[in-house]
Amino acid sequence: MKDCLFCKIVKNEIPSEKVFEDDDVLAFKDISPQAPIHLLIIPKKHIDSAKDIGDETLLAGKLVSTAVTLADRYHLDMGYRILTNVGEHGGQTVKHLHFHLLGGRTLNTTMG
Ligand code: 5GP
Ligand code: ZN
Repeated sequence: MKDCLFCKIVKNEIPSEKVFEDDDVLAFKDISPQAPIHLLIIPKKHIDSAKDIGDETLLAGKLVSTAVTLADRYHLDMGYRILTNVGEHGGQTVKHLHFHLLGGRTLNTTMG
């Protein structure tokens, strides 16, 4: 999608600190980390948010399993959080599906 920030990151039109890439998935460091490890895991193809996953269940599963693999690679043995924000009330600021992987310290337990 033309004006999508994360599509531009996929196309290398905007630089990012990539930590994993294959044909379908890209993972990179969040520009404003909220924890010692804060990665974003995205599909290379544009999907607006989790509510638009539709039939792309395999891809959605791949995003989550990539997050788990990265958590392992970053030695987040004490635990971590995988989350995705959806829409305005969910706090989604970038309208391209992404999972956050947060870890490296005890995370805040407040939900909402
Ligand atoms: P959301 O609020 O949509 O769930 O998460 C969007 C995330 O994208 C935020 O954590 C924000 O820091 C991150 N972000 C926004 N712009 C950029 C950017 O240009 N590069 C990178 N690496 N992360 C970004
Ligand atoms: Zn996009």
